[in-house]
Amino acid sequence: MKKIGRVLSAVSVMFIMASCASDGSVPEKSADEKQSGSLFAMDTYMTVTAYGEKAEKGIEATQNEITRLEKLWSVTDENSEIYALAHSGGEDVEVSSETEELLTFAEDMYLRTDGALDISLYPVLRAWGFTTGEYRVPEDKEISELLLKKGADKIRINGGKASVPDGTEIDLGAVAKGFAGDMAVKALKEQGVTAALLDLGGNIQTVGEKKPDGSSWKVGIRDPHGEGIAGTVEIGEKAVITSGGYERYFERDGVRYEHILDPDTGRPAESGLASATVIGGEGRMCDALSTSLYVMGLERAGEFWRSTGDFDMILITDEGGIYVTEGMESRFKASSGNVTVIRR
Ligand code: AMP
Ligand code: MG
Repeated sequence: MKKIGRVLSAVSVMFIMASCASDGSVPEKSADEKQSGSLFAMDTYMTVTAYGEKAEKGIEATQNEITRLEKLWSVTDENSEIYALAHSGGEDVEVSSETEELLTFAEDMYLRTDGALDISLYPVLRAWGFTTGEYRVPEDKEISELLLKKGADKIRINGGKASVPDGTEIDLGAVAKGFAGDMAVKALKEQGVTAALLDLGGNIQTVGEKKPDGSSWKVGIRDPHGEGIAGTVEIGEKAVITSGGYERYFERDGVRYEHILDPDTGRPAESGLASATVIGGEGRMCDALSTSLYVMGLERAGEFWRSTGDFDMILITDEGGIYVTEGMESRFKASSGNVTVIRR
């Protein structure tokens, strides 16, 4: 469940400390004792598990940070900066430094990915019902008219102000959680937390190269064709972020329509991939890339990786084939079947 847009003001943010004693007091903590906190934000469940004495403060700080960012970026909250941007009739609106940074990043990724990542598809996503759950299959003509408004390169950003052309609307669903994860990692570190695992609706980010017991972080990669996992990956301080059609879709007349759109056609991407996982140092980059590599498909994604290469990926095809870049060769263990290694 992904849509940052559907969360909105109505969302009650629940934050539950998992290791409180029954009388509500917080027990004494040792260096490798862990605590977990959960919240519902950005339309998804998030859990932060932190280790050590600073865990509780760190978890609280991540909650505050994520809640703050959600208020800036919700598409339907009339007080959000993203709402203001879409409803200003093309005029400049003031934006926070975080929003400016995220929009600049997304525009840059639009260019780097040849438009495969395009945060201006909101009107097209709405036509399909992906923003509301009222699903329908739009006519070709409707889609082609809505596509005239897209293009993340139309976003103008300048010194704390931003604008989009009248009729263009932004949807940060493909990048917001990765960015929020980076900010949450920063908040944890500022509180002195040296080991933590964040699960922001399936986006995994870690703090610390290892768990306090000296073992590596182990992350399951969901099998896009079933309920279990396709394999596990061992990582240090990284982000592991997956995009998959299975996360949101609907069916009409036996056809399955999935939530990640090919910006060229305005229709669900049919790239031959069932999921794309990106492993790298920054959540925002992994989130942007997982969505765009999913749109690109196996071959183009391989070319993209060879030309830039500061990340690893695990691609699972519609037929169940698993492809990993060479950095994952010894770190990824498949639950079953063969793995093909993509080399430079
Ligand atoms: P993710 O799960 O990070 O891949 O993000 C998917 C979400 O991003 C979708 O649910 C849409 O809200 C939005 N989206 C769909 N297609 C695209 C695209 N090609 N570029 C950017 N955002 C998209
Ligand atoms: Mg993404």
